[in-house]
Amino acid sequence: MKHFDCAIVGGGMVGAASALSLAELGLTVVVIEKFEPKPFDSSQPFDLRVSAISLASQHLLEQLNAWQQITEWRLCPYKRLGVWEHENAYTEFSCQEIEQPYLGHIVENRLIQLSLWQQLAAHKNITLLCPESLTTFEQSEDEVTLTLSSQTLAAKILVAADGAQSQVRQLSGIGVTGWDYGQDAMLINVETEHVQQDITWQQFFPTGPVAMLPMRGNHASLVWYHQKATLSRLANLSNQQLQEEIKQHFPARLGNVRVIDKGKFSLTRRHANQYQHGRVILLGDAAHTINPLAGQGVNLGFKDVKALQTVVAKAIGENHCWHCPQTLANYEKLRRNDNLIMMTTMDMFYAAFSNSNPVLKSLRNIGLATVNKMPILKSKALAYACGV
Ligand SMILES: Cc1cc2nc3c(=O)[nH]c(=O)nc-3n(C[C@H](O)[C@H](O)[C@H](O)COP(=O)(O)OP(=O)(O)OC[C@H]3O[C@@H](n4cnc5c(N)ncnc54)[C@H](O)[C@@H]3O)c2cc1C
Repeated sequence: MKHFDCAIVGGGMVGAASALSLAELGLTVVVIEKFEPKPFDSSQPFDLRVSAISLASQHLLEQLNAWQQITEWRLCPYKRLGVWEHENAYTEFSCQEIEQPYLGHIVENRLIQLSLWQQLAAHKNITLLCPESLTTFEQSEDEVTLTLSSQTLAAKILVAADGAQSQVRQLSGIGVTGWDYGQDAMLINVETEHVQQDITWQQFFPTGPVAMLPMRGNHASLVWYHQKATLSRLANLSNQQLQEEIKQHFPARLGNVRVIDKGKFSLTRRHANQYQHGRVILLGDAAHTINPLAGQGVNLGFKDVKALQTVVAKAIGENHCWHCPQTLANYEKLRRNDNLIMMTTMDMFYAAFSNSNPVLKSLRNIGLATVNKMPILKSKALAYACGV
């Protein structure tokens, strides 16, 4: 049986980043992933799954040598962020307010994963097992034994980066608190009449927001939040019919679009009751899923990666047992409150803006207009969202 310092189940964006960040500390790491991402080819259409990557996440990807490759493939920086319900309460945040060249980048999830995988393959401390999947595992006093579909191995710690339905979390008996949001989200890739845009915007409606995320060239990713039944109907329309619906329901500033691809995603809030159980650690969506309306999900996951690296590095530096449960408990102390604050803030936004009560409606528009007139508050909120 092979022995590693760390076993990571899930080689998505968070698992792959965590593997590199732990291997950087000199630890041996095995990554277990079911599916290999499709290689990149510049003639491929844009993927539906994209993320708004914050400046803090970009810094982590730079530290892991994965950012440069993404910039050579494709990504789209954005400098401004527009938010409004009524046009007269339009609020715009700009990168100048936080003295940065941009607020973030829109990047296809697969390209982030692929670039991280290039680094995994090149790292002498990392073994990538794919396609491979976890069947079960057992914890003993000083290690975890994993039974995979084709082999058995052991590691000092087991990192669960296996996503929202985390099998590791379930096998560990860690419960979750959460609920389904009343809305789903539809992602729509479009070609836009506008040339390259440097703004991402979101307009709120009681039925849910609609958003535009700019992509390279005259492309964009639209997000349409709505009740499940409405989105099921929209998902069954032809691209041509969907274009007509977009014309009626999206703000005029979008201009004309041509629909290229679309897909519907469920929105669920989940928060694991513990991030750690003995030698098992939960990261990313395995620990928390959040309403995507401010595009924070994987950014929180990358903060988890950084926190785990910090905790382990500190213990190694101080000659403490880096893999003992008492040390690993520090990871949860660093991350739980931060994740909870972001999740709760998103839920407050969601609740406030999905209500058609006229009093609440004027209050939230006054709130947005007020934020626009308070530069210090505005730049503080922006810096927090961008992770700087
Ligand atoms: C509509 C929508 C829009 C979003 N927009 C944004 C955004 O703009 N910005 C942002 O930051 N976040 C956004 N998110 C959230 C973001 O997509 C997630 O937070 C992120 O994908 C989580 O990454 P992860 O690596 O933790 O999990 P995942 O991406 O789910 O990866 C888990 C990996 O584990 C593997 N796996 C699972 N089980 C096993 C097993 N038993 N054995 C082996 N491998 C296994 C899977 O194959 C997968 O590769 C959005 C989410 C949604 C739904």
